[in-house]
Amino acid sequence: MPYNKGDILTIDITDMGIGGEGIGKMDGYTLFVKDAVIGDKVKVSIMKAKKGYAYAHLDEVLTPSPDRVTPPCPKAKSCGGCSLQALAYPAQLKHKQDKVRNDLIRIGGFDAEYIDGILKDIVGMDKPVRYRGKAQFPVGRDRDGNIITGFYASHSHNIIPIDDCIIGAEEYADIMRIIKDHMKHYDIPPYNETSGTGIVRHVLIRKGYATGQIMVCLILNRGKASHKVGIKPMYLTGQNELIDKLQRITGMTSVSVNLNTDRTNVIMGDETVTIWGEDKISDIITPNDSDGITYAISPKSFYQVNPIQTDRLYSLALKYAKLTGSEIVWDLYCGIGTISLFLSGKAGHVYGVEIIPEAVEDAKINAKNNGIDNATFYTGKAEDIKLSEEPNVSIDQGEPSKDDTIVLPRPDVIVIDPPRKGCDEVLIDTILKAKPLRIVYVSCDPATLSRDLKLLTAGGYRLDEVTPVDMFPHSIHCECAVALHRV
Ligand code: SAH
Repeated sequence: MPYNKGDILTIDITDMGIGGEGIGKMDGYTLFVKDAVIGDKVKVSIMKAKKGYAYAHLDEVLTPSPDRVTPPCPKAKSCGGCSLQALAYPAQLKHKQDKVRNDLIRIGGFDAEYIDGILKDIVGMDKPVRYRGKAQFPVGRDRDGNIITGFYASHSHNIIPIDDCIIGAEEYADIMRIIKDHMKHYDIPPYNETSGTGIVRHVLIRKGYATGQIMVCLILNRGKASHKVGIKPMYLTGQNELIDKLQRITGMTSVSVNLNTDRTNVIMGDETVTIWGEDKISDIITPNDSDGITYAISPKSFYQVNPIQTDRLYSLALKYAKLTGSEIVWDLYCGIGTISLFLSGKAGHVYGVEIIPEAVEDAKINAKNNGIDNATFYTGKAEDIKLSEEPNVSIDQGEPSKDDTIVLPRPDVIVIDPPRKGCDEVLIDTILKAKPLRIVYVSCDPATLSRDLKLLTAGGYRLDEVTPVDMFPHSIHCECAVALHRV
């Protein structure tokens, strides 16, 4: 080990890590420095030294980066959500663009010159605040026993109390204040992760930006309440009073409780009960070149959190799919059918596959509500799909077989939009066997994207274009839309 605990060094910060920490190098040795940003010259002291790297404490910023700014949120330093807030927005965008480029070269194994030819400029936001249509606030107590809500500090379950989150909707603060006051008034305890006792675990809020509709779902450490037909079940003391206050918030459309008694980190349980208003809210997305599509969204369904950037992301997916009206399209990891339904207007038939049954139900309703009859949705794992061996299988032969496997007809285009861990290798094999003319890969993790692109290009596809889209300003996350074609 070249350095020991307590050693003091001066270094330049040249990169940022996945937790938003600054990264600097000293003779090839890597130093991770929390709260330092790209472009800073800093004095640090080594806290923990390992063979190839060390964690160091930021003692002093000697020369601040020209891109260093005062974070717009006073809690940015402690909250685990916005780890890039001390970096000016254009520099955040540059960092994400560089990360995508580096991952494609380092993990994907692509030639730097080739990547520079096909990697487009990242699509940023004009005003990168108040963009999030969804927030999940954990509920707990501070050291003095007061009820608090906010967000987790990075890599921990310590709640940083936050009333107004600058990337969330303005209404979130009022909603959380109403819920906290109600819990205090009726002495309703927050859930305690260590003991498994207490009642209120999380509060999920969603807002449909185009419709203004708001949904609140309280996640409770409770089983199903018994109730008589026609009488509303009670899950919380003073429930009607709470509902009364929440429904005065402009746009409030749905109040529900989700029941989760499991001792796990998984936020939501299996059962959701609407206690006021609608079961779902709706929102409208209108990418270029398409009519707006209205979506019904359940508390548990995945829905892109940034509506403005979603329009841009889906416009790219549509462009990359190059549909002419007759194609068979698979939309894998389809959620509530957001991408499928856009593509359906220009495709022969779209088959959507998604693991969460509630999302698939929403997808079917969304198709119906928008008068779309050439999209079929299945609940299942993308990696379990079987390809129909019949060359000219008719479109309605995509029904699941008796043993629940999903058999789909040969596709012309496959769209994949997996979670951060990327695609299962079995799915990559299925895609290569299915031999679509084009693949559109929508990714929320450049590292797993690069890993999967390496396999797809080795299997006979050529990478045509990669466009990063900043769906999550101030966080380290970066979305990409990618076009490939069969060679
Ligand atoms: N395309 C959708 C959703 C993308 S998010 C949209 O743009 O809104 C990824 C989705 O993959 C989530 O809905 C998640 O529930 C689903 N998912 C996760 N693992 C899966 C798997 N193995 N097979 C199918 N779907 C999966």
